[in-house]
Amino acid sequence: MAVDRRPPPVITERTAAFWQGGAVGELRIQRCQRCRWWLHPPLPMCPRCGGRELAPEAAAGTGTVYSFTVNRYQWSPSLEPPYVIAEVELDEQPGLRLLTSIVGGDEVTIGMPVRVRFEPAGQASDTGASDTGASDTGASDTGASDTGASDAWVPVFAT
Ligand SMILES: [Zn+2]
Repeated sequence: MAVDRRPPPVITERTAAFWQGGAVGELRIQRCQRCRWWLHPPLPMCPRCGGRELAPEAAAGTGTVYSFTVNRYQWSPSLEPPYVIAEVELDEQPGLRLLTSIVGGDEVTIGMPVRVRFEPAGQASDTGASDTGASDTGASDTGASDTGASDAWVPVFAT
């Protein structure tokens, strides 16, 4: 499976659930616990009712293409153009939109139904400047890494 090495996102306390939900296949979107309004991107306060009890909940992961553009310039060394940048409106709520990518190679059209999938983000340490094995002091972890960046998954969409 050829997967783009996506640039690692900047993870904050407020966005951690969004970036890490992909590990268990969940598209986690912030939701007001008082009026049940979905919020994205995450905010400190619900714009609808002013509530401050906000928590991530798993959205269905389905939506439609609201708008899109085909990028043909290599902005990032890890993303090979051309690729499709799109706003996807989630089925949960009108106006609940994610800026994301459409993958899979199908022709993209406005209103096209899409479904989330998750791609691993590139690790910040993955620059080739790692140790050369000479200092292998047995401190190797066995994949249960908790370095943060390696836990990030980028939600993208496909038909
Ligand atoms: Zn609210």
